[in-house]
Amino acid sequence: MDLHFVDDVVRPTSREDLPQALPGDTPLAGGTSVMAEPGRDVRRLVDLTALGWPDLTVTGDGLEIAATCTIDRLVHADLPESWTARTLFRWCADSLLASYKIWHTATVGGNVCLALPAGSMTSLCSVLDASLLIWHPDGTDSVVSVEELVVGDQRTSLAPGDLLRSIHLSTAVLTARVAARRVSYAEYGRAGAVVLGRATDDGMVISVSGGSVRPFAVPVTTADPDEVVSACAAAVPDSAWFTDAHGTADWRRSVVPHLIREVADELGSDT
Ligand SMILES: Cc1cc2nc3c(=O)[nH]c(=O)nc-3n(C[C@H](O)[C@H](O)[C@H](O)COP(=O)(O)OP(=O)(O)OC[C@H]3O[C@@H](n4cnc5c(N)ncnc54)[C@H](O)[C@@H]3O)c2cc1C
Repeated sequence: MDLHFVDDVVRPTSREDLPQALPGDTPLAGGTSVMAEPGRDVRRLVDLTALGWPDLTVTGDGLEIAATCTIDRLVHADLPESWTARTLFRWCADSLLASYKIWHTATVGGNVCLALPAGSMTSLCSVLDASLLIWHPDGTDSVVSVEELVVGDQRTSLAPGDLLRSIHLSTAVLTARVAARRVSYAEYGRAGAVVLGRATDDGMVISVSGGSVRPFAVPVTTADPDEVVSACAAAVPDSAWFTDAHGTADWRRSVVPHLIREVADELGSDT
């Protein structure tokens, strides 16, 4: 697509090389959204792909995923067998409307920063308690959760010039038992709601997303499915459910408890 309202494209190769933030600056990762549905206020593209961030780094304490790592790379990564939660990488990719052809270009960080409710890399980060490293334009860093970054439908807490640098998943969460459910109008359609769960030492974490304007990660200290459903209902306000082509708010509000129950049952019975 010709972005005729874009005046400039810069391709920094290091952090020092990043330009001073200007109004209309837009980070460009895979470009599957920036090129398809560009905001009218975009004036300069800051291409992140020349920064050369290694896609995936296995660290002493887990996995660091560069924001520019493609979804395809993550799905097909050769990772330790003991990281049982890695099954969610593929599962979450399959929850996108985007097909595997888009996975080749779309990045994990782009999916999170776009902050669509249908952002299943956001769902992944939510249930796996990811630590998101943010580079600020003044040279400082901060680490936030995905719930702190994705604050609404296509709304993030990123300030102008902020960049998501990487996503860290700890070994403890990667080796945890997980369960996943989604529901959609069409068998292979984009998920209307996503519920993910992860077993913890004292219970489980349930993440509700896809049908809510932002992700909700709910820690619970019980395996009783009724109590888990109640805890999630208390954590997700009625106003969080939304209506679009993939589901109505009422439908989402009514089906999600069933998904939560199934996830809780699976995690509770699998000990
Ligand atoms: C056919 C099709 C189906 C799709 N289906 C879905 C779907 O089901 N769910 C969904 O969520 N998306 C979907 N998308 C949108 C998009 O493809 C994905 O969200 C994708 O993961 C975005 O990644 P990207 O690397 O292409 O991001 P880009 O298009 O490059 O960027 C997306 C946004 O994030 C910002 N950004 C990117 N990287 C960073 C960073 N590191 N730091 C700060 N800001 C950054 C950009 O400025 C832009 O605002 C679909 C797109 C297509 C074309």
